Amino acid sequence: MTDLPTFERSPILPNEVEDKEIWQPRWHCFCCQDTGQIQAHLVSLIIPDYDHNRDRIPVCQGCNKFDNYHLKEYGVLDLRFDLYICKKLDAIARDGWKKTTEQQFEKYKKQLDIATGQIAQAHSLAVANRTSNDEREVQQRKAEIEAISPQEWKAMNESYLVGKKDE
Ligand SMILES: [Zn+2]
Repeated sequence: MTDLPTFERSPILPNEVEDKEIWQPRWHCFCCQDTGQIQAHLVSLIIPDYDHNRDRIPVCQGCNKFDNYHLKEYGVLDLRFDLYICKKLDAIARDGWKKTTEQQFEKYKKQLDIATGQIAQAHSLAVANRTSNDEREVQQRKAEIEAISPQEWKAMNESYLVGKKDE
């Protein structure tokens, strides 16, 4: 039993397990990212001159996330993207996501390596500082000892011997 406190880790770098979660998307459907509206860049694969601001809303039919079907009455929905197309777009987006995250992960890994190196450097710098402090202390002690006059040495020796005799 000790009465020392217990601290939690104080990491400079975040935990790796948490980092991996960054690369997991929040959505299930890659076609619409669970919004029900197909991602504009995917739409433009099929409608090359697609204008997000002026064209009907392409509804994802690869999932059931779109809940504004009442807008159909207003004629603002583009329902030509059927299940088959949406699944295809989902696969394309999924692949793109994978590639992007892989690239980001590589970049992140490099940054992590650099950061780890910097932390190691900081630690060794602290060690180097401590060593030079130790050396400074040694030099100081040496200087103090050298400053003692022969008379003082004699007196110290005598008192030492006196002490010995008393034991
Ligand atoms: Zn969807």
